[in-house]
Amino acid sequence: AAKREGRSIIKVFEPVMLYSRQLRSQMATELRGAISADELVLHYQPVVELATNRILGVEVLVRWQHPLRGLIPPDTFIPLAEEIGVIHDLDRWVMSASLRQLARWRRDLDLDADFQLRVNLSAVELKQLDLVDHVRTLLRELELPAQNLVVEITETAIVTRGEVEMYSLLSLQQLGVGIEIDDFGTGYSSISYLRELPVSMVKVDRSLLVELDTRAGQLEFVAAILQLIRAAGLEAVFEGIETREQADQLRAMGCASGQGYYFSRPLPAEEAGALLASTRHLRVEEGIDDPEVA
Ligand code: C2E
Ligand code: MG
Ligand code: MG
Ligand code: MG
Repeated sequence: AAKREGRSIIKVFEPVMLYSRQLRSQMATELRGAISADELVLHYQPVVELATNRILGVEVLVRWQHPLRGLIPPDTFIPLAEEIGVIHDLDRWVMSASLRQLARWRRDLDLDADFQLRVNLSAVELKQLDLVDHVRTLLRELELPAQNLVVEITETAIVTRGEVEMYSLLSLQQLGVGIEIDDFGTGYSSISYLRELPVSMVKVDRSLLVELDTRAGQLEFVAAILQLIRAAGLEAVFEGIETREQADQLRAMGCASGQGYYFSRPLPAEEAGALLASTRHLRVEEGIDDPEVA
């Protein structure tokens, strides 16, 4: 996986190594200092409108550029950050740093007015009473329209439907921020439950696409989920689109948007900016080859 995300990666830290208790506690100490040491970096993965292949926006994905261990993926350190209480500072840093990046891009690149910066928020963040104030202040300071921001929340974060979580979601929605349920299909929420929440988008987990070619009836299954999401009045987004065939199948089903290695891997800010400066559409040329697989 190390080569997959581009040249900026030297090596990728193996998540399995965290099973060593000693290493875990050392990593915990290091992670506490990572934000102030400026070791967190943001990558940006385009999200594409499937009907036209227009870039609708980018998802912000954090990485930890460890001075010795190389680039560490979030699946390794986000759970640790949640466990040791660093996630709050981490998510706030990501929100602020990525909104600053968006402000620069808006200034330099003449982005579409409906461009979406999509930021992942941990369940812990939704429980913070001042989350909405933090977001509102940032948007005002950077003179960004709230419509340019979408927060992605995993369904497990809201399955308990806590009072503060609902307050956060409703206030963000009132502010004009888009709200999306991430990794749909891996947790417990039913579609009728999603209907009651202040959300506008549902991102279907990539595990559902993985089985598209291998599991009997999977195409029909995915199509049915898509119909359910739309019948609930929500917009469906698919993650993990890796092949042209998958993109074509989803487009044929009427799926609005998606992201995945087929369109683009998550890119460092500079490369993402260069991409946005050079084109607003991905893979529209006919007969284009599949992306290189490292
Ligand atoms: P996610 O929000 O579901 O993000 C999608 C993940 O799928 C990303 O992994 C992305 O790199 C990967 N991906 C995208 N396209 C493809 C594809 O075509 N094939 C495959 N196999 N994978 C693809 P990544 O960057 O490792 O992030 C993992 C998870 O870490 C994210 O899942 C999200 O839950 C969490 N995360 C990332 N950044 C943040 C953050 O700033 N805050 C919080 N709280 N969580 C974050
Ligand atoms: Mg996400
Ligand atoms: Mg996801
Ligand atoms: Mg996922």
